[in-house]
Amino acid sequence: MADFDLLVIGGGSGGVACARRAARYSARAAVIENDRLGGTCVHRGCIPKKMLVYASHFSHDFEDAAGYGWTVGSRSFDWPTMVRAKSMELDRLEGIYQRLLRDSGATYVRGTGRLLDAHTVAVGDETHRAETIVIATGGRPTMPAIPGIELAVSSDAMFDLPAFPERVVIVGGGYIACEFACIMQGLGSSVTQLYRRDLPLRGFDWDVREVLSDEMRKGGVDLRLNVNATSLDRKGSAIAVTTTAGEEIETDLVLFATGRKPHVAGLGLESAGVETAENGAIPVDAASHTGVAGIYAIGDVTDRINLTPVAIHEGRCIAETLYNDNPQNPDHRDVATAVFTTPELGTVGLTEEEARQAFPAVDIYKTRFRPLKHTLTGREETIFMKLIADRTTDCVVGCHMVGDGAGEAVQLLGIAVKAGATKAQFDATMAVHPTAAEEFVTMYEPVPESAAQTAQA
Ligand code: FAD
Ligand code: NDP
Repeated sequence: MADFDLLVIGGGSGGVACARRAARYSARAAVIENDRLGGTCVHRGCIPKKMLVYASHFSHDFEDAAGYGWTVGSRSFDWPTMVRAKSMELDRLEGIYQRLLRDSGATYVRGTGRLLDAHTVAVGDETHRAETIVIATGGRPTMPAIPGIELAVSSDAMFDLPAFPERVVIVGGGYIACEFACIMQGLGSSVTQLYRRDLPLRGFDWDVREVLSDEMRKGGVDLRLNVNATSLDRKGSAIAVTTTAGEEIETDLVLFATGRKPHVAGLGLESAGVETAENGAIPVDAASHTGVAGIYAIGDVTDRINLTPVAIHEGRCIAETLYNDNPQNPDHRDVATAVFTTPELGTVGLTEEEARQAFPAVDIYKTRFRPLKHTLTGREETIFMKLIADRTTDCVVGCHMVGDGAGEAVQLLGIAVKAGATKAQFDATMAVHPTAAEEFVTMYEPVPESAAQTAQA
């Protein structure tokens, strides 16, 4: 008999969720983890990132308070205090992960898992056998092999920097680059962001990309487009970044946020007959099955939608299907997501470009306005909102926002989109006044067709 019904390799968001749900249905489940339980999200991702986002907002709040009559005394930011507080909280969270796993009845195996065949995993000198194996090993940052790249850091290092840098150059235009550009700017660094194309956040709605770039620049980020780094050189205690524009930018820290790659090195996939795509991703079907009997893969290692709630959902679906007689496939449509920039970007559903491809006719609703709060602060920040409706069915198929609270707003709008709400139902929803989000139910007039944004990217 096998040692376990289910062996999960990787104790991050997806792996732990899968094992806990399986154990709840009395499966003999185990999680193998070689670093810290909780994975990327808890230790190098969502959670410490959001803490830094909160920390970075205080500088704005102190400035804005004056408009409301407050006098804020001298202020300074102490990076070591922030790092200590963050680390203590992550230790606490890791403890909670361990307790929840134990309480669910699942086993925690510490070490590196390596497949020996489709039902056997080696961990150090031990071997474990299971009916089902789930690979949930996540991803790792990648950087281009340009001269001097060893002088750069990835996002993994950003949470424990030994010293807070006065100047930062950030390369990339994705989630991590944009979030850290705003974080570091808010905490007091002078930030230059280099992105190789015409607007950051490729894949998001064109309008929100334009608005966010504009807002980030207003916030002080020196966002340079159509520029890339070609080499890095040590210059005393500083680093010189040479760009494709022929410039040399001197800085104290260089962050390369140039994407992540599925982590499959040393996993022994070949021994079990599991194939990988060119970037290392494990291809799976709608049920997260690899095609090798008994082996599934979930989360970032499959490179579908690389977000924590998606990894968790994929893991739980497997447990429901195998151990609760409740077959479920993860639904990757209409996944709401936020980029925690300042201001935030939130989105759910289709971009305008995607909607124009998917439907014969769409109606676009947009608004950009100064939030009430900033009428007294003098801050130039604006809020942007956009709805996209399929003209034939009147269903709202996309909601986008740039502005404070965008993540919170799209979490709830996601329910409406998922439920197939129509624009008429949005219009029939009473506003909550005075809020920013009320604009989502009071944008009655579509943008005239002639003025509508044409698909650009
Ligand atoms: P992971 O959480 O990466 O877990 C994989 C685990 O497997 C790791 O703990 C690793 O140590 C372990 N492992 C690997 N190989 C082995 C092996 N052979 N044996 C044993 N253990 C192994 N997502 C959001 O939804 N919201 C956010 O705000 C957000 N912010 C992010 C910020 C940053 C800076 C980063 C990097 C990511 C962020 N993400 C965010 C993405 C999110 O963190 C990932 O999508 C999520 O963690 C993926 O979960 P996972 O279970 O697939 O992998
Ligand atoms: P992304 O894939 O989002 O972005 C990578 C960026 O790096 C892109 O702008 C890409 O440009 C650029 N790039 C890639 N290669 C090079 C190169 N050789 N030179 C210069 N630029 C390059 O990855 P991230 O690392 O930002 O984040 C990884 C994933 O983690 C995200 O996609 C997301 O799924 C998840 N995440 C989620 C967060 C959230 O939910 N808030 C926060 C952080 C991460 P190009 O556009 O031209 O390809």
